[in-house]
Amino acid sequence: MPATFPSHAAAVLGLKFWKPRWFDGIALTVGSAAPDFAYAVDGTWFEAPVPDWPPLYAIAHSWYGIALWGLPVTLVACWLTRRTFEQDRPDVWITTASAVIGTASHVVWDLLSPNDLASSIAGALIAVPLLALHFGRSWPKPHWPTLIAGAVALPFLPGAALAHTTGSRIVLLTGLSLLIGRRTKTRP
Ligand SMILES: [Zn+2]
Repeated sequence: MPATFPSHAAAVLGLKFWKPRWFDGIALTVGSAAPDFAYAVDGTWFEAPVPDWPPLYAIAHSWYGIALWGLPVTLVACWLTRRTFEQDRPDVWITTASAVIGTASHVVWDLLSPNDLASSIAGALIAVPLLALHFGRSWPKPHWPTLIAGAVALPFLPGAALAHTTGSRIVLLTGLSLLIGRRTKTRP
């Protein structure tokens, strides 16, 4: 499995540059990472909240998880992300379709990825320039106290020894610090 972010965005963000009016760049990017957000609750009760059901990360990485997890999580995250990045708000069906495409690309790439390190590096090399082009002008500053407090807490959270668990928490923590940073900046 490639790194949650930025690597997974490499599979889909090119669509936004190919047909800008057909796709939602935020939904593609967030959707491509969304299945791994389930790892953030590893080691807690939320990892398997429903008895006899698969753990949350397994649901999030399944085909039915695209509808049960990827789509709703991406739509909520898009709503929050749009408060962070000053970008256009496409029609809801464009956002929905882009969220599904992003999440499905994640599930497929995780299944097909033969080498975690190689696919993470190759994905990042493609994704970083695309992300910089798409989000560069609207990139806010993080809220440093949130980022630092979170970084200090991360090693002590359940499941912190698992790279994919801490990795997904780093992505979510960074997003939270950008969101708070933007709100702090815009407050009169
Ligand atoms: Zn994954």
